[in-house]
Amino acid sequence: MSLNEKEVLSVRDAGHTRMLLEYGTIMMMAGVCSAALCISAIVSWAADRHHTFMIIWSGATLTYVAATMAFGQYAQSAAPTTGWIASITLILGSVLAWMAAADFENGQAPAVGGFGRLIPAVVLITALALVGRNGLMLALTNLITCAVLAETATIYYCARRESPAYLIGLAGFYGVAAASFAICGISLLVFYPVDFLGVPDSWAETANGILSVLCLTGIGALSLALVHQRAANRHRVDAMTDSLTGLLNRRALIELGRTNGLSLCGASAIVFDLDNFKVVNDTHGHAIGDMVLKRFAMVCRQGLRATDLAARIGGEEFAVVLPGTDATSAHLVADRIRDRFEREHIVTPRAMVHGCTVSAGVFASPPATCYQIQDLISHADAALYEAKQSGRNRVCILPIPAEIN
Ligand code: GH3
Ligand code: MG
Ligand code: MG
Repeated sequence: MSLNEKEVLSVRDAGHTRMLLEYGTIMMMAGVCSAALCISAIVSWAADRHHTFMIIWSGATLTYVAATMAFGQYAQSAAPTTGWIASITLILGSVLAWMAAADFENGQAPAVGGFGRLIPAVVLITALALVGRNGLMLALTNLITCAVLAETATIYYCARRESPAYLIGLAGFYGVAAASFAICGISLLVFYPVDFLGVPDSWAETANGILSVLCLTGIGALSLALVHQRAANRHRVDAMTDSLTGLLNRRALIELGRTNGLSLCGASAIVFDLDNFKVVNDTHGHAIGDMVLKRFAMVCRQGLRATDLAARIGGEEFAVVLPGTDATSAHLVADRIRDRFEREHIVTPRAMVHGCTVSAGVFASPPATCYQIQDLISHADAALYEAKQSGRNRVCILPIPAEIN
């Protein structure tokens, strides 16, 4: 009797019942967990279509369950073709999990990266199946799965700043799953012949099955928590953002100014108001007026530091708060923005708009004097009034009130 026949018999004899029970139990656990998680993931995606990563992750989970079922079949039949199908399905499941992680990270599923990982693995596994190296095929299937899951763990770990508890947890679960596949792969390489046929009956396999189900459940729960947190963050950002220009809105500027109170000591504010903007609207239409507003926001953003706050506080009015900036520097910033905006050309199929101008008022609180953000802005607004009165397209500074001087 050849080694292979002996192995097959050992699967079909005493070990057979035990393997069947183990795989049956694991399959049932994996199936129930996955079904519940996939339903939650799909409902969460249906409620908010931003979460495409949950759909890809559901695909990965279902594929993993299919792989577990195929391995269950293989444990019973020891048919090489079933082993090959199970191996390919398992690798596909891990590649989908990697694609879900990449989609989470970049907002886009990287098809090229997915195929780049899947195709070489499929070619290798198929070649080993064709030459009857089933033991080696199983070992490499485990090691490839380990490598792809470890990559997935790394993506979540590197993104941990967004939500440390959830992302480190996800990385941990993927890492544990990867380690359990590594142990299976190594034990197959070391203890089983390269032409071994069947599913190895070892503690490593049983531990891998149980750990996979545990990790799957943990990953599902954390992924759901993560998308809900992302949605909450997005709603918070939306509520703070002016939808036309992408700058802060008035409420967010005031709120941020209050919470960063200390940094407003010795700070400056600039209030901008586009000149004769009604004429722009009347001449070119409201849509082009909107483009002019967006262009001003862009010029404004480009002229500021990361620590400055810029907001659209009214129709064609903008406010900028510059922490730690004196009057001379704030005047320079305002005048540079004014000058750049005047030189902008907005070209559309219907019109070319140029020569739009903006007036600005600047107020700087004296060093070590703290102002409420509303007061900074209202003083800058008074300076803006001066700029409008004295002919527009200019920057005026409001002197520091006498009681402070
Ligand atoms: P001034 O130089 O004195 O500031 O004159 P102005 O025409 O800019 O000021 P006025 O207050 O008379 O007009 C402001 C215009 O801004 C009127 C309003 O229709 C327009 N506006 C306000 N919000 C928006 C917006 O979101 N999009 C567009 N396209 N126009 C807007
Ligand atoms: Mg105005
Ligand atoms: Mg105006």
